[in-house]
Amino acid sequence: MSTPHATREHSYDVIVVGLGGMGSAAACHVAKRGRRVLGLEKHTPAHDKGSSHGGSRIIRQSYFEDPAYVPLLLRSYALWEELARDSGSDVYRLTGGIFLGSPDCRTVAGSLKASQEWSLPYELLDAAEIRRRFPQFAPQPDDVALYEERAGFARPEATVQAHIDLALGAGAELRFGEPVLDWEETASGVVVRTEHGPYLAEQLVICPGAWAPQLLERLRIPIEVERQVLYWFDPVGGTGAFENAPVFINEWPDGAQTYGFPAIDGPGGGVKVAFFRNGSPCSPDTIDRVVRPAEVDEMRERIRGFVPALDSPCVHTATCMYSNTPDEHFVVARHPDCAAVTVACGFSGHGFKFVPVVGEILADLATTGSTAHPIGLFDPQRLVLR
Ligand SMILES: Cc1cc2nc3c(=O)[nH]c(=O)nc-3n(C[C@H](O)[C@H](O)[C@H](O)COP(=O)(O)OP(=O)(O)OC[C@H]3O[C@@H](n4cnc5c(N)ncnc54)[C@H](O)[C@@H]3O)c2cc1C
Repeated sequence: MSTPHATREHSYDVIVVGLGGMGSAAACHVAKRGRRVLGLEKHTPAHDKGSSHGGSRIIRQSYFEDPAYVPLLLRSYALWEELARDSGSDVYRLTGGIFLGSPDCRTVAGSLKASQEWSLPYELLDAAEIRRRFPQFAPQPDDVALYEERAGFARPEATVQAHIDLALGAGAELRFGEPVLDWEETASGVVVRTEHGPYLAEQLVICPGAWAPQLLERLRIPIEVERQVLYWFDPVGGTGAFENAPVFINEWPDGAQTYGFPAIDGPGGGVKVAFFRNGSPCSPDTIDRVVRPAEVDEMRERIRGFVPALDSPCVHTATCMYSNTPDEHFVVARHPDCAAVTVACGFSGHGFKFVPVVGEILADLATTGSTAHPIGLFDPQRLVLR
């Protein structure tokens, strides 16, 4: 292996590894602060091999996972707006969202708790009101829903591309098709090795997505990578009734959660739905990209009980990976053993709505060593295997 040389050509303020959802946002925010940034990505821009593809991601603020996420979401929304304006790209849309199930289920009770704690606007709808306002849904008689007007969806590929374009515009050097082989801390910063060279920088930001077990082995935190499937069904009666539908998450009596989007791919493009979790363990190297007819049947069987028009042909499927931590909270922090390294991983299937604010947090940590954002929940020390 060649010896790193600290020439001007190979020396950066910050290297960002992984330019998917989080890494592209980090590269953008660091570059906008006038720092010399190198981004290294093993795949192409806005690719479909990781966790940031498939056309849409739910964004919402009434956060049933934990009210502690809400201040981050408020900032993320401001940054989504800024991103849309600066890039001129249609990166997100507010459609309204309904989060539904029995009154005491996590989806409903948790969404309500977060809304009340942070004084977010919401409406509570009973089953009759849900049917009246959203005739495409068939709730159970005892179901209730929290309706959040400011919920909607982000477009993952457009978001990644927008951050890449803005990073390049701010002077970042981004190299695609260049996997990082390894990295280590040195006396004065970090060295990152690829086939094309050792690169030196003062700070390293690692955003590896489902590759965390490989790139962050030294962090000693258990991350389980899961295969997830997305399904697009062509609704009975056409997509018209779904074009202005809200996003939804519904919780079933057995605790399973399913979610879906409005029809955003035109006539014949279908309506996207999926299980939230319920995946199978995999790795980026072993994930089975083939979706079996039995999986499609299982999804259809389930979703037609809530969206009857989706008892219909499946027109498209895709696979994607979650990177789950044991408590399903993120890992965003300085590396506990390497002062020059910041890590962002373990987004556990709910990270995309935070992409803009995580980019800002990573830029804070890499350029100033700390952040004013509340990230205590994401400290990796809680998970370290001893
Ligand atoms: C099916 C599905 C549905 C989801 N739905 C939602 C939702 O509705 N709302 C929501 O908020 N979130 C949702 N999520 C979660 C969200 O999409 C993820 O949390 C987020 O995209 C993770 O971003 P990331 O940057 O960590 O990973 P990625 O975007 O995968 O980025 C990691 C990058 O690192 C690169 N990389 C890895 N190893 C190397 C290496 N050695 N050298 C160089 N580059 C490397 C990879 O190629 C990749 O580009 C969903 C995820 C899936 C899969």
